Amino acid sequence: MAQHIDNIIETKGALILGAGVAGLFTALKLAPFPCVVLADAHPGTTGSSPRAQGGIAASVGRGDTWQSHAADTIAAGVGLCDPDIAALVAREAPDRIADLVRYGAPFDRSADGSLAVGREAAHSASRIVHVKGDRAGLEVTRALADRVVELPSVTLMEGFHAIELALEDGRVAGLFARTCSGPERRLVLLRAPAVILATGGLGALYAISTNPPETRGEGLGMAARAGAMIADPEFVQFHPTAIAVDVDPAPLATEALRGEGAILVDENGRRFMPALHPSAELAPRDVVARAIHREVVAGHKVFLDCRKAVGAKFAEAFPTVYEACREAGIDPACQPIPVAPAAHYHMGGIATGKTGRSSLPGLWAVGECASTGLHGANRLASNSLLEALVFGARAAEDVRASTQPRLTGGALPAPARYAAPPVPPLLRQTMTRYAGLERDAVGLRHALRIIDQIERAGGHEPSLLNMTVTAKMVVTGALARRESRGGHTRSDYPQTESVARRTFMTLADANAIAAAAPGDDHKAPAALNTIRR
Ligand SMILES: Cc1cc2nc3c(=O)[nH]c(=O)nc-3n(C[C@H](O)[C@H](O)[C@H](O)COP(=O)(O)OP(=O)(O)OC[C@H]3O[C@@H](n4cnc5c(N)ncnc54)[C@H](O)[C@@H]3O)c2cc1C
Repeated sequence: MAQHIDNIIETKGALILGAGVAGLFTALKLAPFPCVVLADAHPGTTGSSPRAQGGIAASVGRGDTWQSHAADTIAAGVGLCDPDIAALVAREAPDRIADLVRYGAPFDRSADGSLAVGREAAHSASRIVHVKGDRAGLEVTRALADRVVELPSVTLMEGFHAIELALEDGRVAGLFARTCSGPERRLVLLRAPAVILATGGLGALYAISTNPPETRGEGLGMAARAGAMIADPEFVQFHPTAIAVDVDPAPLATEALRGEGAILVDENGRRFMPALHPSAELAPRDVVARAIHREVVAGHKVFLDCRKAVGAKFAEAFPTVYEACREAGIDPACQPIPVAPAAHYHMGGIATGKTGRSSLPGLWAVGECASTGLHGANRLASNSLLEALVFGARAAEDVRASTQPRLTGGALPAPARYAAPPVPPLLRQTMTRYAGLERDAVGLRHALRIIDQIERAGGHEPSLLNMTVTAKMVVTGALARRESRGGHTRSDYPQTESVARRTFMTLADANAIAAAAPGDDHKAPAALNTIRR
């Protein structure tokens, strides 16, 4: 039976779901076009954005070029990046950094006043702009949030959890959200001529993750449930060096530490990366993460030794990491930091084109919940905040150009239930164990059975379905990709195929893969979608 809708809110312009860097930047770029920014908490306080440490990649350093940035992005993506998108993002990056400076982002400067740039893994030049060492995410998000709250074109709605997209005549016409607090949960329908999802990633669906609890993959799940095309869902990036001190989310020992010369060693001080890759500790993330994972599986403990490379300047140069270590009783200036890989970033997401448009009319997606083709099979460090900025600006321009600010009207069929349960621990354990750093068909099939049980036990509650559907997209994408590439490693298919193909699949495709006989996963429709665009 359909629920009673407590309130219908008419949004004249765009409705942005999510208040991380992607949502906030899009709202700023939309102005003076009206928009509502809806999020579960105050802008700038939730999602992965305030946690970002390294910074933002852009070819603003002396002698650097956007062509070199694009080439590094493409090399990290192991054949799956869309070269046009990589070029477009690298070319527009310096302008988006200039926007951030205008909005008040306090980037670190060199002695001559130019932007200071750091170096991170797999970048061939120093091109990471940063703030106070490792506080880029916090300071940039704060600067954007401060601007957004002052803008007359933006209406902020805090304390709402979105659960489902509202559809009308095959078009996304708004979304359903419930209040997060108060004695009574209320169901609200927000109608809007343009809906922009900026809901971030899915790290919290994994038991060991650097992402906060609100990164539940719900935007992707909502879009998939509404029929949107999803791209490359199987590609999850695991950060090699989460600090292994049993804290959830796992604090991060930023890549910049390895950029400074910190080395990875086992409990006996044995350095293992130089034998595995010419760039040693600065090899692409997937290579470093897998190497650490295999050391751990072989019974070793792994440490990031910063004593020589950073030493006494640790507290000043990397205050966030320093604080996290001190809280765990470790002094990183004179003790090695215990580390382990953790789910960190989703390369896959809602398939979007150059303007952030999804396959569903009325729906755009920006930031980590989208898959633009920039990252391919493996994201280059510090390219994700950049992607959120570039496509936030492009989506804003497209929405402004194609949407009439108008009021819509009337109720739409509401979901029957609207609780917002926490991520079931069983789902998190299942994803880490069977859809983590190394996968195989037997484990992935087992994961699908568990996901199905969780869905049934939850009575198909929409918010839970958003999570299980996202998990199912990751697992079925991983089943259909019978090779190892970038962030996706199949122990039963270790080869990398000569032809690189992106995955494009709908929820119907995922269900077909789940229903296929074991061994027939690759014959299900999603495998054919790998060449559809
Ligand atoms: C520890 C860490 C360090 C990182 N370091 C870097 C770095 O140095 N450089 C870099 O480029 N990237 C980095 N990343 C990745 C980067 O931070 C993210 O990819 C980026 O911030 C994503 O921004 P976003 O706006 O798309 O999503 P988020 O910042 O995650 O924001 C999502 C928003 O959506 C809201 N939301 C989600 N679902 C719902 C719902 N159902 N209802 C209501 N609201 C909802 C959330 O509350 C939040 O407001 C890092 C990530 C982590 C976790």
